[in-house]
Amino acid sequence: MRRPIFGGNWKMHKTVKEAVSTVEDLKKEIGDIEGVEVVVFPPFTALDAVKAVLKETRIGLGAQNMYWEEKGAYTGEISPLMLLETGCRYVILGHSERRQYFGETNLGINKKLKAAFSLGLVPVVCVGERLEERKNGKAEEVVVVQLRECLEKVDLQKAQKLVIAYEPIWAIGTGETATPQQAQEMHRLIRGVLLELLGEELAASIRIQYGGSVKPENIKDLMRQSDIDGALVGGASLQASSFARIIRYKE
Ligand code: PEP
Repeated sequence: MRRPIFGGNWKMHKTVKEAVSTVEDLKKEIGDIEGVEVVVFPPFTALDAVKAVLKETRIGLGAQNMYWEEKGAYTGEISPLMLLETGCRYVILGHSERRQYFGETNLGINKKLKAAFSLGLVPVVCVGERLEERKNGKAEEVVVVQLRECLEKVDLQKAQKLVIAYEPIWAIGTGETATPQQAQEMHRLIRGVLLELLGEELAASIRIQYGGSVKPENIKDLMRQSDIDGALVGGASLQASSFARIIRYKE
């Protein structure tokens, strides 16, 4: 049984004060929720303050990115050790905005993934196709290559921690969601690649989140699909009330 996992990716939103106020509200709404895993991904500057609010709740803390080295002359980067010290247990790797605006490649994401595994962080690896790729019938090929390259030679012993987020780029922040059937087809494809790369047991246990304009109104239908194990939520996670409605999709 895969436990659903919901992540709130706040991107470059919220001052420390705003972040604290949002998690205080979220704590009131879902602080005691059982049966699902919930993680917030605030900007780096708010991690410490958010951690203090989340103490003694079931809500986890994650970062939106990291570098693969533990320390060194890498101006502007944050290391996995620094994230652990701040109380992060999760990290998003290879979000499409990082690929698009900051030149992240599958090779770099693979290095980050190995670093996350070796230091015990739970990586949320993002994959997804662009609109032209989908229109040209290339969506499956693109996602398979992303997965193969991002997961190359990962330590199988640690791969049970892996979370994949399938986020079609044309659905991120656009208000356009993949239909539950489109999402399920891609999730099934991803599980097939995991099976080939990591074996049956791991492929069956790894959570695959859907991301792309998830809202309280569409989460139920998405979660009915057999290979969708939660959501990575951008815009709708900025308000505690809408994120909480997504997390409580069953009610
Ligand atoms: C995201 O940033 O990962 C995302 C899915 O954003 P949104 O929910 O706003 O489409």
